[in-house]
Amino acid sequence: MLVKDRGKSIRIRKLEVMHRRVIKLHPKYLTMEDELSGRLAGHFGEQSNDYFLKPFRDFSVMHDLRLTAHESYFQIDTLLLSPRYLLNLEVKYITGTLVFDHLNQVIRVKDDGSEEAFRNPIFQVKRQQSHLIEWMIKNRIPPIPVRSLVVMSNPRTIIKAPPSNKDFLHYITHSPYLQEKIKMIDKMYTDEKLTIKEVTKLSKLLVRHHCPENPDLLKRYGIEEKDIIKGVYCTECFYLPVVRQYGKWHCSRCNFQSEDLHLATLEDFALLFGPTITNKQFCDFLQVPSRHVAKRILRTLDLSYTGTYKNRKYLLPYLL
Ligand SMILES: [Zn+2]
Repeated sequence: MLVKDRGKSIRIRKLEVMHRRVIKLHPKYLTMEDELSGRLAGHFGEQSNDYFLKPFRDFSVMHDLRLTAHESYFQIDTLLLSPRYLLNLEVKYITGTLVFDHLNQVIRVKDDGSEEAFRNPIFQVKRQQSHLIEWMIKNRIPPIPVRSLVVMSNPRTIIKAPPSNKDFLHYITHSPYLQEKIKMIDKMYTDEKLTIKEVTKLSKLLVRHHCPENPDLLKRYGIEEKDIIKGVYCTECFYLPVVRQYGKWHCSRCNFQSEDLHLATLEDFALLFGPTITNKQFCDFLQVPSRHVAKRILRTLDLSYTGTYKNRKYLLPYLL
């Protein structure tokens, strides 16, 4: 049963807006584009891995959890919950070859033959596992075994490890073998440690404590307001800016017309600048010359607001 689905993270959604709106001449544009493509590959890798979890209907499945640990956070890609044990899955989409040596050092050999040191994913899942156990103790969950696996979601990734590396066999699998691996683990844990009711309670508690990451990427990439292209964009062909004529937005590139294209652009605004907007900001960002038109559009959205007429701030619910 799927308890918590995965959507695109706020980080990816912010990067997508920046990719669409930051001027291409910005010195950090290519770095930002690289981050976006890497994170999208990871996101689609995680999604494709979900396919292999379909047969396991008895588990409660949760995706993308971010929980607190010692004033900081730990993240879990996928957590499977059963009354007998929990299974933490860290999904990795990696290109090239990963070489584990007997000391658990990891080297990634890229397709062009160049090598780089790679953060050992086994240490990463071990750390997640101990954070999760601590979190459960703190939240008075009865003790239950936790297992962890690193799932390589790119079938073309080659993984090399010496037979003496026991951790490797215990923790790493390719996604097509995930089902077999889970069946094997399943046989090892036969005692029920939690009731079904307690599992449901635990999953609800995890959802309640989930704290989505909301990084300030404009600051991180040194992007200022002047670097951002304003205007309403066409959701069909991504052309920007579309113009408003007789109460409709009209795209001059693909001829798409719609009354509510401003919704997608307001989402962009919220992701870039935060969840409130004034009439003035609306006119400026959506390039609407008339504040009366802006007011009319804002009124149709039925947004909650704070402040009096002139300083009114409308709440954009897109980030919630
Ligand atoms: Zn268009």
